[in-house]
Amino acid sequence: MTAVRNVLISGASIAGPALAHWLHRHGIGATVVERAPAPRTGGYAIDVRGVALDVAERMGVLDGIRSSVTEMTRATIVDARGRRGGGFEASSIATDGRSLELLRGDLVRLLHAPTTEYTEYLYGDSVAEIEQGEDGVRVTFEHAAPRVFDLVVGADGLHSTTRRIAFGPEEPHRRFLGSYLSIFTVPNHPGLDREAVLFNTPGRLVAMYHTPRAEGAKAMFALSAREENGVDRRPPRDQREFLRRTFTGHGWEADRVLAAMEEAPDFYFDSVTQIRMDRWSTGRVTLLGDAGYCPSPMSGQGSSLAMVGAYVLAGELARHDGHAAALAAYEARMRPFVRANQAVADAGTDFLLPRTRLGLVTRDLAVRAAPLLSRLGTFDTKLSRAAEALELDAPAPAGA
Ligand SMILES: Cc1cc2nc3c(=O)[nH]c(=O)nc-3n(C[C@H](O)[C@H](O)[C@H](O)COP(=O)(O)OP(=O)(O)OC[C@H]3O[C@@H](n4cnc5c(N)ncnc54)[C@H](O)[C@@H]3O)c2cc1C
Repeated sequence: MTAVRNVLISGASIAGPALAHWLHRHGIGATVVERAPAPRTGGYAIDVRGVALDVAERMGVLDGIRSSVTEMTRATIVDARGRRGGGFEASSIATDGRSLELLRGDLVRLLHAPTTEYTEYLYGDSVAEIEQGEDGVRVTFEHAAPRVFDLVVGADGLHSTTRRIAFGPEEPHRRFLGSYLSIFTVPNHPGLDREAVLFNTPGRLVAMYHTPRAEGAKAMFALSAREENGVDRRPPRDQREFLRRTFTGHGWEADRVLAAMEEAPDFYFDSVTQIRMDRWSTGRVTLLGDAGYCPSPMSGQGSSLAMVGAYVLAGELARHDGHAAALAAYEARMRPFVRANQAVADAGTDFLLPRTRLGLVTRDLAVRAAPLLSRLGTFDTKLSRAAEALELDAPAPAGA
């Protein structure tokens, strides 16, 4: 079996450009196809945590990440009238330095820009058909002429087209985590300064946060739902209507956020869902990042999994002569790490969106106890352990 020499990556967000970088370092060529007309740089605050920071350092983007942090310092809990209750330090740089928070768009820019020197990007296009053969994969695009690649990598997110073409419909791979999440930019009415503010009732959250790295403030609605109601697959008009029905008159800033939602340039709405698959590869097609193993926003680990996955996949492709052995090794190394990080999502939901009054009281007590626990050194969370649960092998030589 011959080594993989040219790879098609579908998706130019976090996983895609990170993989293009590492393939180049190993002397493997990549073409990236992205449905959007340009890199999608908007978005919410994300954390790069644990091993992903080591990957970032080896990519040469760690300083860029450090200088792009959101500068947020605090999270405060308010009641329906906006009266401030408990709060906790929520620094964009964790005290141990093993978690850095930045805007998703800034991370995309940092990962994407250096790769443009050596990577072919096809914007405004998508994979339409994939035909696997003995010696390669023939890919038909929606616009570009068909081409043959040694390997196709689906890095096209939670609702991956590559996954649908190669593995069938999304349904059997989805694990609905019982909530919906919406986030978008609004005017900074409450005059927040580098702070997040959360207003919870059982099973509902209205939150806002401000970072000097973005215009206005980001607003977030979250709500729990025992059953899926399909609203995430409806047009944005219906999703806005659903949020209006759920949050009108809810208290604190809810009505002003709903009014601003109509004009929001970057309205995001989705179900909180994980992707769990028995295998990520079939023949010469494999999946990376959210496409293969989305841990959901509630885990706070999606970007980190995407970056670490890119590093591991490229390393295994360089190490093995044939794609089959490389993809088997990629799965074997990544699976325990993915499992550990997907497992933190439920705790994330319990923290951000307690479903019951008791859950809410327990969460608020935990918030009050957190500074003491961290001083006593007993606040070693499941999340930070999961984020460190993979040992990187030796880095590829720079400029390979
Ligand atoms: C509100 C929210 C908060 C989050 N917070 C965190 C956090 O704190 N920490 C963290 O690590 N993660 C967080 N995440 C998750 C994180 O954003 C994702 O896990 C991460 O972006 C995954 O990267 P990806 O490159 O795999 O996929 P995506 O970022 O989803 O990118 C997929 C790319 O593929 C493109 N695409 C889609 N379909 C096609 C197609 N047919 N053809 C070509 N291109 C296509 C898309 O345009 C996009 O550019 C959060 C997510 C949300 C929604």
